[in-house]
Amino acid sequence: MGRRVSRRDFVKAGAAVSVAAAAQNTMAAEGPTVLVRKATPPVVIASANGHHYRNGGPRTCVEEAFARIVAGEDVLDALLAGVNIVELDPEESGVGYGGLPNADGVVQLDSCCMHGPKKQAGGVAALEGVRTPSLVAKAVMEQTDHHLLVGDGAQDFARQMGFEVEADLNTDLSRSKWLEWRRRIDPGHWLDPAKRSRAGEAASRAMVAEGLLDAESRLGTINCDSVGPKGEVCGVTTTSGLSFKIPGRVGDSPILGAGLWLDGDVGAAGSTGRGEANLYGLCSHVIVEQMRQGRGPKDAAMEALRRVKANTVEKRLLTADGRPAFGLTFYVIRRDGEYAGVTMWGKAEGREKQFSVCTENGPELLPCDALFGEAPAA
Ligand code: ASP
Repeated sequence: MGRRVSRRDFVKAGAAVSVAAAAQNTMAAEGPTVLVRKATPPVVIASANGHHYRNGGPRTCVEEAFARIVAGEDVLDALLAGVNIVELDPEESGVGYGGLPNADGVVQLDSCCMHGPKKQAGGVAALEGVRTPSLVAKAVMEQTDHHLLVGDGAQDFARQMGFEVEADLNTDLSRSKWLEWRRRIDPGHWLDPAKRSRAGEAASRAMVAEGLLDAESRLGTINCDSVGPKGEVCGVTTTSGLSFKIPGRVGDSPILGAGLWLDGDVGAAGSTGRGEANLYGLCSHVIVEQMRQGRGPKDAAMEALRRVKANTVEKRLLTADGRPAFGLTFYVIRRDGEYAGVTMWGKAEGREKQFSVCTENGPELLPCDALFGEAPAA
């Protein structure tokens, strides 16, 4: 384990980076957590894409959200303005406009959001034609008695709410990636579902290896959560989901308790990565409940990852030595400002798994704490 650091020292250091590098490599959760990342709210955390994309403007997602919260804007509205940058950026092919399409070449988007103080939530799934599904999720939250609208119903609702509905959300970039993928799996022959999913997975992994597809956006989602100056806990998750998915497939992102869960008195947790693994354990809910019982964000998320590991038994989903052969990352923030990015594999496909944070000290990209070190090559 790393050096013991008092919480006060850590707070003094502002958005300090964990020095627990040693703990990151193997089974970091086996010992007690002694290192925390903590900042005085407001704090905004997000997946790494919250630090990378600006959509041609001056600010990233976490910078925009943080600035708006400091200026007094409602915390959820501020987070939505942040993730809208990522949704609208045509270069980001895992979220919103220009997100990688499903197997039929259609961009289908999922999102949900939660407002801690108001105890409200809304979501949309398999929504086509609207660049910012997170704002439709907010409209579901505010304008209906429901928490989730899907497919054509979600699109009709968006149209009725005044959202522009476009025929096609592909960009030249996302369309070209889909065309290449489709060419590789030879859709003229219907394979049985297991073979088809293996062939699809192998084709997109090969495209990553050949530099044709960004490793992050083969999956690709943004989750962004915050605690505001008055302890307002809010969160949002938005995605184009698994690339080249079976049409209609919905992952964890828009599902309350999976892609996002929060309790205004406790904190928030959201996810990116293999949605099916998260759905099976409703991990964001688990994490928030673990925090309610006194665990810190890192330990709470490690517990969820251990459950995912225990529930992953199908051989096709396991590495040769029996560990989950996929990525899954949680972004967790407690109401007092303690936060963590916690991931299944610390490094995969040559890249260290990171998350973004913005505090009064500015934006940073930090390494995630990891259950396992480097993922074996696929
Ligand atoms: N969790 C998302 C899904 O399963 C994908 C991702 O985060 O990359 O739809």
